[in-house]
Amino acid sequence: MSNLPEIDTPFLLDFLTRLLNTASPTGNAEAAIALTEETLRAFPALTLGRTRKGALTATWRGDQDEGPRAVTAHLDTLGAVVKEVKSNGRLKLSKIGGFAWNTIEGEGCTVTSRAGRQVRGSILLTKASSHVFGAEVGEMKRSDETLEVRLDARTMSATETRDLGIGVGDFVAFDPRVELNAGFVRSRHLDDKACVAALVTAVKTLSEAGLKPARTTTLLISNYEEVGHGAAAGIPADVEELLVVDMAAVGEGQNSDEFHASLCVKDSGGPYHHEMSNRLRALAEKNEIPYRVDVYPYYHSDGEVWWNAGANAAVGLIGPGVDASHSYERTHTEALVATVKWVMAYLLDK
Ligand SMILES: [Zn+2]
Repeated sequence: MSNLPEIDTPFLLDFLTRLLNTASPTGNAEAAIALTEETLRAFPALTLGRTRKGALTATWRGDQDEGPRAVTAHLDTLGAVVKEVKSNGRLKLSKIGGFAWNTIEGEGCTVTSRAGRQVRGSILLTKASSHVFGAEVGEMKRSDETLEVRLDARTMSATETRDLGIGVGDFVAFDPRVELNAGFVRSRHLDDKACVAALVTAVKTLSEAGLKPARTTTLLISNYEEVGHGAAAGIPADVEELLVVDMAAVGEGQNSDEFHASLCVKDSGGPYHHEMSNRLRALAEKNEIPYRVDVYPYYHSDGEVWWNAGANAAVGLIGPGVDASHSYERTHTEALVATVKWVMAYLLDK
């Protein structure tokens, strides 16, 4: 039987929606970090801090200080920066993070200038019109050469675009297009905002039930995961165990799905800590949490990053199943709730 307190699911979905609607491409994630910081401020048992890199930390004093733990999820997302202002006034992009160009074709976007001005636009093929280019539209290879941003502004030249204040290095955020239907959450960037929302909901649920972690635990909301060095810094050196909470890879051949949380036992960085993984399985079973065990074929996590940075600690990885990751993603409330429960069970575990 599970003794975990009841989760406020409307809060979980509302906070997740607000987070998804707050753009945070890697390198420009401050608005989403600030929103999370503001939300966690409601729980005075947490000591909040920032790393010099801009990540958010929250330390929660547990029943015991010995054998401290950490839990991490990342708030930064895929995105792009302006690589070049083209002579036709449109923008060439340089990718932030690993995704295929075709997954953003046709998407709306917001370009933020150095001065903070925001201009809306669309990501389109350089030869987008079927009436002009015929079959070429379908046949062109999607690449940084063949996709461009068309700004919703009167510009036909590089000079006119520069006059808008837009230039090389400006951040480009892709529209998340958040929709909640029949228990599903459909949006870009559920990776990994779904898990940040799960952590915040776990903190809220335990706090309001008058509970606290068994061990002193540091939460790290990291802001450079998608480019490979999120949790390289920010976790206290005395932490003995790190739980990474990040999306589970759903697709053909995968054991994960949108209705379960998954334990990843191995990804591109190799196996996770066997004893910790077994303990996480036992916790899920004891608390009747719907879970799967899986291996992710093309996947790196902040746990691997921390290990590579020299951490001498156990690392485990759990998270909700997310379909079509790094594309137009989707998960289900059941997977999110399972993840919150799993995080709570871990925090309370002696
Ligand atoms: Zn992720």
